[in-house]
This record gives sequence, structure tokens and C-alpha cells, in this order.
Amino acid sequence: MKTIEHYIRDIQDFPKPGILFKDIAPLLQDPEAVELCLNALLDKIGDTKIDKVVGIESRGFFFGTLLAQKLGAGFVPVRKPGKLPFKTISESYALEYGTDTLEMHEDAIVKGERVLIHDDVLATGGTAEAVCKLVEKLEGNIVQCNFIMQLNFLNGKEKISGYDVKSVLEY
Ligand code: AMP
Repeated sequence: MKTIEHYIRDIQDFPKPGILFKDIAPLLQDPEAVELCLNALLDKIGDTKIDKVVGIESRGFFFGTLLAQKLGAGFVPVRKPGKLPFKTISESYALEYGTDTLEMHEDAIVKGERVLIHDDVLATGGTAEAVCKLVEKLEGNIVQCNFIMQLNFLNGKEKISGYDVKSVLEY
């Protein structure tokens, strides 16, 4: 039987020279692989109650919605600026050059709700850290940040070290 790792395609120098992009497209194309990955992510959560799954634009939406459905939780998209139609809260974070901003609807999480944050890849951790701040602004209780992959050489886990961080694959 193929492992989840088998379905991750490495693309050298995308989107910029020097980046090894971890492409989940082959995984998404195979329903058995999707089930394998979904179950592996669910294993990381166990029996813990989750009220909201927060998925990070855009590859965090695929498994984020599947996880929410399986966990009996609501799904919340975090998006790039100007994409969400209702009132939003926002958080900016540093990139290698410049800054980026992420937004969430202000009514997406109710104070005290138990939140799972999900994305495909944890790299430097800047994105996940900003999303944690958005959830904290709405006084959500972050139960876990989970990822399909974490790139250990970029130390992203350190940026969100105050939380339970789990990944299916580590590189
Ligand atoms: P970071 O803020 O550096 O942790 O970057 C995380 C975000 O960038 C996630 O939304 C990932 O989808 C994307 N990302 C960063 N590095 C990679 C990579 N090597 N392969 C695929 N996606 C990546």
C-alpha cells in the first residue's frame, strides 16, 4: 500500500528559486490518498471536542472542510485581504521582504469555542502565528494547530510553541 508521502510531489524552485514546493495536488486527485491523509489528521486530534476548524487560504481549505465535517465542527476560512464580504478582523505578519495580511470574519468564532487551526504546510510559521492571533482576538481556545507537513529546517514550530502543534509528515 502507498504511504501519504508517496502522493506529495516535490517541485524545485517554485514559486521562487531555492524553494522546494511541496505539492499536494497528486494527493487530492486520489480519493484513497485523501481518506488516508484525513484519517491521519483525525488521529492527531483524537477524541478532543472541536467547535470550529479554521482553514488557511487556500490549501488549508481542502482538508479543513473535510476535518470540520468529520469532527461535527463549523468551518472558518482565513483569507487574503478584501476577499471576505462581511466585517473582518485582520492581522499582518512579516515576510522575507515586506508584510502580508490575513483576515477572518469577526463573527467566525464565539468566545471560548474550541478551535483547530489547519493548513497544508508549516514552513517558517509566520502564517500560522498570524492566524493564532486572529483566533485569540476573538477569544477562541486554540486546541491544536495541525498540518499535513512541517518543514523542520525552517523552525516554524517555534513561532507557535505555545500551542499543541501536530503534523502528519515531517521533513
Ligand atoms: P509559513 O508562513 O512560512 O509557515 O508558510 C506557510 C504557508 O505557505 C502555507 O500556507 C503553505 O501553504 C505555504 N508554503 C510555505 N512553504 C511551502 C512549501 N515549501 N511548499 C508548499 N507550500 C508552502
